[in-house]
Amino acid sequence: MHIRLILLVAAMIAGLGAAILRLTRKKPETKLCVRCGALAMHGYSQTAESSPDDIVPLCVPCLLERLDEDYCTYDGRAVVIQPVAELPCYVFRPKDDWDEPLRSELDTLLAGLQNHCSSCTNPARYLWVNALEAGPIAKLPQKGITHTLLAPSSAHPISLCARCSVQRIARSIAGQEAGYVEVSGPRGGEDGLVTAIGY
Ligand SMILES: [Zn+2]
Ligand SMILES: [Zn+2]
Repeated sequence: MHIRLILLVAAMIAGLGAAILRLTRKKPETKLCVRCGALAMHGYSQTAESSPDDIVPLCVPCLLERLDEDYCTYDGRAVVIQPVAELPCYVFRPKDDWDEPLRSELDTLLAGLQNHCSSCTNPARYLWVNALEAGPIAKLPQKGITHTLLAPSSAHPISLCARCSVQRIARSIAGQEAGYVEVSGPRGGEDGLVTAIGY
């Protein structure tokens, strides 16, 4: 009888302690998805390096919906580097935004774009390049895609349609714990490059 009472009191004290802890613990700053109100994980913008006011918080499903729209309506062709964690942004930049060596490398790579998606045979518009770590990607603007990512793993870019590109992006970001400050999809008609980047 005594032991039961002691256990009951102990349980009550523990419960009270937990409740107090919940009340006093500071809430982390949370942003909610502007489209559905769920917990937001990423920031989404129309163009790379938008001002903070133009970057809207989105949950993962709503972000993927927007990206699907962007990738399906884009009129150019783009090299898409697999998104890796650790870099704060994952954005599209048209060819003109990059330095000359990378511009001509994009031309060379995109000349090898197949007509049909290698996964589903829809028309291909994207060249997917696998990436695992942030290190090589951080050097990519200066050293190029071939030197940092393709040559070291003897890999070739994979021709993909819009849907299959976004599916691969979805799979890649699914396991990431931290969100991107800014994500933007390809836009307009100029060829370009989608990559994780730290400004
Ligand atoms: Zn949402
Ligand atoms: Zn496809």
